Amino acid sequence: MEDKIELFKQLVNESNKIVFFGGAGVSTESGIPDFRSKDGLYNQQYKYPPEEILSHTFFLNNTDEFYKFYKDKMNSLKYEPNITHIKLAELENKGKLKAVITQNIDGLHQKAGSKIVYELHGSVLRNYCMKCNNFYDAEYVFNSEGIPKCECGGIIKPDVVLYEEGLDNNTIASSIFAIQNADMLIIAGTSLTVQPAASLIHYFRGNHLVLINRDSTPYDYKADLIINESLGKVFESI
Ligand SMILES: [Zn+2]
Repeated sequence: MEDKIELFKQLVNESNKIVFFGGAGVSTESGIPDFRSKDGLYNQQYKYPPEEILSHTFFLNNTDEFYKFYKDKMNSLKYEPNITHIKLAELENKGKLKAVITQNIDGLHQKAGSKIVYELHGSVLRNYCMKCNNFYDAEYVFNSEGIPKCECGGIIKPDVVLYEEGLDNNTIASSIFAIQNADMLIIAGTSLTVQPAASLIHYFRGNHLVLINRDSTPYDYKADLIINESLGKVFESI
């Protein structure tokens, strides 16, 4: 394992157009639970599975119940970036990293100082009135009583991609462009099973593809380096 981390360090050193693609595993080390992992925790407390609550239909039909779950489980304001977020922001600052692409919605990359962050599934930091499109920040939504409402009376909806909703085309296009122009692609904390996010990997034509994940992924065969280790342990070394 030490050899692998040493090699990772070397690849980072010799690369200047790094793109990082991260999943839930990046944030779990900050203490944010992965709502896709079925640990039974949610099911005990809520009448519906998280996939149902976090769907477009459920939001429209059970807005009150949606927001109970959302405020209880998706409030990332109380969490802090971990060493991986911080190191990535440093790499960007040094000009070595060109973009972070993330499946997370918690805004922790920005909190750590990253500037170019493509959020495939949206962000809790952005919220808009469904009637007049007025912007509201995460504090407003998470601190509201019941269903957060705009001053015009409209219901506020988080700019988070719910189940049944499509991804934002501009975010996908920017992510593809970044990956196509990268010399090193680091994919971390994701099992690469969620589409279409996982298929972005096919656009990479650079030198080094590194996968960092606790378990194996369907794309291990494409990787130059596979590290099955905690992300924090890998990133604290660089
Ligand atoms: Zn409004």
